Amino acid sequence: MSGSAYETTNKYLQDGFDTLGLDPKTEHMLKTPAREVRVELVIRMDDDSVGNFIGYRVQHDNARGPFKGGLRYASSVNRNEVQSLASLMTWKTALIGVPYGGAKGGIQVDPQELSTGETERLTRCFVETTHEFIGPTTDIPAPDMNTDGQVMAWLFDEYSNFHGFEPAVVTGKPVDVHGSVGREAATGRGCMFALREVLNHEGKSIEGTEIAIQGFGNVGSWAARLLHEKGAKITAVSDITGGYHDPTGLDIPSVWEHVAAEGTLERFDDAPSITNEELMTLDCDVLMPAAIGGVLTEENADDVQADYVLEAANGPTTYAANQILENRGITCIPDIFANAGGVTVSYFEWAQNIQHFSWTESEINEQLEERFVDAHAALRDTMTEYDVSMRTAAFVNAIDQVCHATEMRGLQ
Ligand code: GLU
Repeated sequence: MSGSAYETTNKYLQDGFDTLGLDPKTEHMLKTPAREVRVELVIRMDDDSVGNFIGYRVQHDNARGPFKGGLRYASSVNRNEVQSLASLMTWKTALIGVPYGGAKGGIQVDPQELSTGETERLTRCFVETTHEFIGPTTDIPAPDMNTDGQVMAWLFDEYSNFHGFEPAVVTGKPVDVHGSVGREAATGRGCMFALREVLNHEGKSIEGTEIAIQGFGNVGSWAARLLHEKGAKITAVSDITGGYHDPTGLDIPSVWEHVAAEGTLERFDDAPSITNEELMTLDCDVLMPAAIGGVLTEENADDVQADYVLEAANGPTTYAANQILENRGITCIPDIFANAGGVTVSYFEWAQNIQHFSWTESEINEQLEERFVDAHAALRDTMTEYDVSMRTAAFVNAIDQVCHATEMRGLQ
């Protein structure tokens, strides 16, 4: 049994607690979400029928600042998954050093089955039912799986209907609607910086590195593009419709063009097709899961041929799979480090909104890079100090920050 997403996150967290030797009551507090909101969302569908959906917002910890994290739309959304993702945000924001806590939201819905109008009504209904729990200094949503700048613009607009003009209530907005340059590419760019730092530390470089990417949404597609520009060989990509593999390296600009025209990778004729399962066990240097959680399991971990797993997705590796990979000497670059670029530039967007002042794209990218360089150096120190994996070091560094803030602020 691989266990639930929340169980997996808590097991990784426990490895961090054990390294630091925390007391059980503190551990319990740090595992448990501070608040969980579950809402029923009832909207009018285009055919005049009633649409009934369930939404969640889990606020995990706010010792270091307002709750922060994405909002996802997917049929797989459930309370347990959102609890896990909210907790990961607490550790991610602490590790990368942005002044936030952690939260996550989700609506259980297949977004492919909604029209644009229905998606807008559902988003506005979510704000109507949760606006008292979110806010620029309380809890700041952002894009996640199947949500984008358009959804964030509706969120901002609807929240402003209740509370007046408040662009800082949500990040990942379109640039023309108080968003930030560089935010769309930020998670992919962060993955590139994380990989570069890890490889450089080991005397290697991105150039010529063979990378297989599962998922070609916002994160996977931007990572593919930026890594390709840095000379990596992207040998495989996939999305929900299937994958494509070319051992000599795919032409990523033409993959982008295909997706821009067709909406998905389907019928990309320039390379032989493979399944998503086959992609996971391809012979390559870096395997990059950039889609859903729980894709590396006990069933396929033994067959992974990559030297590194770059976790662009949240929670892609089960605890048992992680142990197998570790025993086989495969380095997992953990999600809370690898994909922290999104929330980092979310912080820059929020800071710009609050100051009513905008930064240039090179300022954004330079500051993002600096955070990754610093976080990576701190990870290496902790790995040496405690003789632990990069994942456990990431949790140790993050737990340290959160515990310190909790202690300084004090309990009641
Ligand atoms: N959904 C993204 C994540 O999982 C971004 C969150 C944010 O920007 O608040 O990190």
